[in-house]
Amino acid sequence: MSHEIYLDNSATTRPYDEVVQYIVEVSRSYYGNPSSLHTKGIEAENLIKKARLQTANVLRADPKEIYFTSGGTESNNLAVLGYLRANPRAGKHIITSEIEHPSVLEVFKHLASEGFRVDYIPVDTRGTIKLEALRNTVDRETALMSFMLANNEVGAIQPVSEIVKIRKELCPSAVIHIDAVQAFGKLPIYPAGMNIELLSMSSHKIHGPKGIGALYVKKGVRIKPILLGGGQETALRSGTENVPGICGFGLAAETTASAMEDNLTKVSGLKEFFIGKIKENFEDAVINSSDEALPYIINVSFPNLKSEVLLHHLEQKGIFVSTGSACSSHKSSQSHVLKAMGVSAKYIDGAIRFSLSAQNTPEELDTTINSLKEIIPVISIKHRGKV
Ligand code: PLP
Repeated sequence: MSHEIYLDNSATTRPYDEVVQYIVEVSRSYYGNPSSLHTKGIEAENLIKKARLQTANVLRADPKEIYFTSGGTESNNLAVLGYLRANPRAGKHIITSEIEHPSVLEVFKHLASEGFRVDYIPVDTRGTIKLEALRNTVDRETALMSFMLANNEVGAIQPVSEIVKIRKELCPSAVIHIDAVQAFGKLPIYPAGMNIELLSMSSHKIHGPKGIGALYVKKGVRIKPILLGGGQETALRSGTENVPGICGFGLAAETTASAMEDNLTKVSGLKEFFIGKIKENFEDAVINSSDEALPYIINVSFPNLKSEVLLHHLEQKGIFVSTGSACSSHKSSQSHVLKAMGVSAKYIDGAIRFSLSAQNTPEELDTTINSLKEIIPVISIKHRGKV
């Protein structure tokens, strides 16, 4: 194995070197509890202030609208549960899509068991929600809608401006939560301009540390905490702050965002290059990610093979990818996202997610294609026995 080729960046990313250095420095020298009244505490508090500003700047938001959490999962839970608990009279109807991350879907399932009326909007073959279905589903009782900006398995981007228009027309009192975990730092996202109230982010998807994220809550929107205790994060998220994590996240957010346009151009080029090579070399492969999808995610189905087998063969060559999404890869069930998009079982079984970062190179993708050319004939079901 000469060189690792990491193509699983939607599962998690390699932290930036400067982020790792900063985390070490903060852990070593600024270990005070931000709630302590002495200098050590104040130093730590100031570092959090700086990270909150760095994160807010990426969204062009007020730092007071940023609440640090333990990651995307907690942000999604806090957004949905916190809003509904704080606004019991907002309505008993909530809406999401069929292709959300489990950290939204499981919350909705739980709320259904508590008596909420829950609707799941279907998607088309590109993974975009059907706006007509949304239009027919919202009503005056709708309290909250939750949609992801970019899907974690195929990269489909949801038409947030259209969703906001439908809300304005048909259910103006409903709030909109956006799970931006896969899109934050990769696309320009400005919640105030987008007219949304809640937005989730996660640090480890943008070359920051794991176990840290944030929720944007628009000024004036009431939400209740789901963790009770010492009242940190203006009483919205109790628990001693993860100062090194918060600092690493702030720096990663600033670093990623400062290169957002260049990164997007670079990764778009990589996607085009890779898809071109796939089409050239694997006639029967199907690209499940549309041209308009977030270029960082390329989902490809190779029929007649099991994606898990391909994944492990690639791994032996130092190439790391995912089947469907990493979060659900320990479960044997088929991808709910590809299913919702109408992909047939045979193609779901052979689906691989190649997820890129701006650190990847065309040479790495070329090597990956050459490895696929070696592996696929050997593991394809129809060719088995001939080799
Ligand atoms: N939402 C989406 C779209 C994701 O892709 C993920 C993680 O894969 C999450 C939420 C959960 O984020 P975290 O791993 O920070 O809990």
